Amino acid sequence: MSRTLPVNKNDYIDVEFTDLTHDGMGVAKYEGYPIFVSNGLPGEKAKVKVIKTGKSYGVGRLIELYERSPYRVDISRDEKHKYGGCQLEHLNYKGQLKYKENQVRQVLSRIGKLEDVVIHPILGMEEPLYYRNKAQVPVGEKDGKLIAGFFKPRSHEIVDTDESVIQLPEVNEAIQVVKEICRELRIPAYNEEAHKGVLRHIMARYGKQTGELMVVLITRTEEIPNKNRLVKEIVARLPKVKSIVHNVNAKRTNVILGEKTKVLWGNDVIYDYIGDVKFAISTLSFYQVNPVQTKVLYEKALEYADLSGEENVIDAYCGIGTISLFLAQKARKVFGVEVVKEAIEDARKNAALNGMTNVEFAVGEAEVVIPKWYKEGNTADVLVVDPPRKGCDAALLQTIIDMKPKKVVYVSCNPATLARDLRILEDGGYKTMEVQPVDMFPMTTHVECVAQLIIK
Ligand code: SAH
Repeated sequence: MSRTLPVNKNDYIDVEFTDLTHDGMGVAKYEGYPIFVSNGLPGEKAKVKVIKTGKSYGVGRLIELYERSPYRVDISRDEKHKYGGCQLEHLNYKGQLKYKENQVRQVLSRIGKLEDVVIHPILGMEEPLYYRNKAQVPVGEKDGKLIAGFFKPRSHEIVDTDESVIQLPEVNEAIQVVKEICRELRIPAYNEEAHKGVLRHIMARYGKQTGELMVVLITRTEEIPNKNRLVKEIVARLPKVKSIVHNVNAKRTNVILGEKTKVLWGNDVIYDYIGDVKFAISTLSFYQVNPVQTKVLYEKALEYADLSGEENVIDAYCGIGTISLFLAQKARKVFGVEVVKEAIEDARKNAALNGMTNVEFAVGEAEVVIPKWYKEGNTADVLVVDPPRKGCDAALLQTIIDMKPKKVVYVSCNPATLARDLRILEDGGYKTMEVQPVDMFPMTTHVECVAQLIIK
């Protein structure tokens, strides 16, 4: 028989929040039973209505705050639209940094069982707003009018938004202008439920150092009605635009970009700089979204790699070669690996653009390519990994353990998988020396870290 829960659905209970979940919900324990409540902050006491009960946790709605956190900021209904997609909008920046740093400490101890590692205070931004160089906004229709903005949390309902406080002004403007033009030209919006209509997403990407703008129109259909007018208007009304791209995604999916891209106007890439290194960025390639903090992160990665100029370095999950080229300034040779073919084409272009001849790039999965290199007798002195949220594949970690590079620099956008992978590397003969959290995504719950490991 299952254990009886201390609460029932629709109960009103008084609770105290003690923690935040990884997606920013307040956590309260009611007779030991965890209840997650949106908008609750640690230290606050509140009346909560239980709206869902599961075996291991319940979900509640905040009814009344009895005691407020000193870190709380009041957000109006209108402001909520500007903060779309920001889970930590109600927590001030000092509180956000504290929360993220704590999260890293807790996870590294709980999952990674790393007790004596140095975890530095998180590096935050001076101005934690208007930082993103990219936006991809879903398009829909409401009352016969094309709308674009963000999805309401845990729903597929689109909220029409004029501005997001975490996007660069040029990105906000681009989205807004393209949306207006699409309305004027009556471009049909995509309807997710029926899988009908045309325009699914509008994407804008901006090179902050170069002032170059890329606009991407993502459609279900191969054709865009009024395409020529659309392009002409975008060029006329957005003087910074250097590239207009059409991406077709005909599938029923949450994935935003399809595989096929066509340049409608201008260049196939835009350019940007991180530090002194110039980068070409194409539509399908990953490029860090916070240019200010990217420089902080990469400089830390370079410091942890501690290169003298003699080393062979592998950069796994290299994207368009950003970290690879940073490293190549100080290494003998850098080998980059990345699974997206277009990103590797960009990476090769980028090496040439910067006159760097000591880098080589390969397309493929890191967990396939690097074991193959190792079998062929190749090793590295320093290995850098920067995987997506799911962390490194077990086969890659095993190859690192066998290959024994003196140093491993692990760049991570998910502390939980970082902790898991650090444990595996520790058990395989490495020692985690330092971890530096960096706030790349203010207002959201995401946290980036860079860790240095040395072979024992
Ligand atoms: N280091 C780069 C990119 C980091 S994002 C930068 O800072 O810009 C992670 C990258 O890993 C993405 O470009 C993604 O396409 C790539 N990727 C995802 N799975 C991979 C795999 N199994 N092998 C190699 N690359 C992969």
